[in-house]
Amino acid sequence: MKIKGLKPLYNSLLEGIGNTPLVRLNNLSKEFNCEVYGKIEAFNPSMSIKDRVVDYIIDKAEREGRLKPGMTIVDATSGNTGLSIALVALIKGYKCILTVKDSSAAEKITQLQLYGARVIKCPAKAKPKDPLSYYSMAQKIVDETPNAFFLDQNHNDNHFQAHYHSTGNELWQQTDGRITHFISSASTGGTVSGTGTYLKEKNPKIKIICADSKGSVLKPFHEDGKYYEELKKQTPLEGVGKDIIPSVFRSSIIDECMEIDNDASIECAKDLLRQEGIFAGGSSGAAVDAFKKYMQKYPDEKVGMAVLSFPDHGIKYMAKLYKSGVKSEDAADLI
Ligand code: PMP
Repeated sequence: MKIKGLKPLYNSLLEGIGNTPLVRLNNLSKEFNCEVYGKIEAFNPSMSIKDRVVDYIIDKAEREGRLKPGMTIVDATSGNTGLSIALVALIKGYKCILTVKDSSAAEKITQLQLYGARVIKCPAKAKPKDPLSYYSMAQKIVDETPNAFFLDQNHNDNHFQAHYHSTGNELWQQTDGRITHFISSASTGGTVSGTGTYLKEKNPKIKIICADSKGSVLKPFHEDGKYYEELKKQTPLEGVGKDIIPSVFRSSIIDECMEIDNDASIECAKDLLRQEGIFAGGSSGAAVDAFKKYMQKYPDEKVGMAVLSFPDHGIKYMAKLYKSGVKSEDAADLI
């Protein structure tokens, strides 16, 4: 018997990227009397949404002749983009050097090294322009490494395009165009911007909501167009908030930036596990917290179908978030 819908053989793990499950969140749907779904990006091969981005950028650079065999891929990453780079580099035979903040979860750094990446840990406390920051170090490595390919997730337009063509298109199809609200945490802002732009082009009424953390520069930039360089990001949640304005962050398509609460977000992530069996990272909890805060702020808002982005798997944060009793203030100095 031929099984209907069964995927064909994959030529490599990269063919398993995307087409992730969109799962009804029954507790939130009941609580808010609307349909609430989670887009479970942990189903990607390296267990995060960044596989889509890196696969798209590398594939395009290869097709355009900008990335050739023997080159070294370099980027600054909180871990997930690095893991996707390490995976794609491993499968396609490139070398890679990644700069990470020394606050990144230990599990993620070990995983990068297991995948064969060279990892340079940089002080999380260094300001973006400090020569020791993970941004500056990545640029230095690019300048000093012969045949380096700078993936540049913060400013590479193909990052935005990746979400536009992949995540946005996929959500529109999966929901049969019924989606009314999209909620995603932002760090580079690639997810919320690329996905949001695609969805808004399909239906300008869809609300695009961004979860941001206290001390991040994104929400103030969205609200008054200014970059407050002196702000200090106060969150142990990886993938929520930023200290620079990446050019992939397209503020104009975002309807609202919600400032999340660290502890509430961690509790929301734990609730996802306890109530729905979804074991996700802290930024997924932040999307839930942002959604709840949005619903409290706009009690009369008509929500038909809200989709929350769940960017990665909770197993990456066992020690950092899921160890019982962890409070955000214990980890806040890490960021
Ligand atoms: N969550 C996690 C766990 C991430 O690693 C990232 C990206 N660093 C995000 C959310 C935010 O995604 P984006 O960079 O597209 O804003």
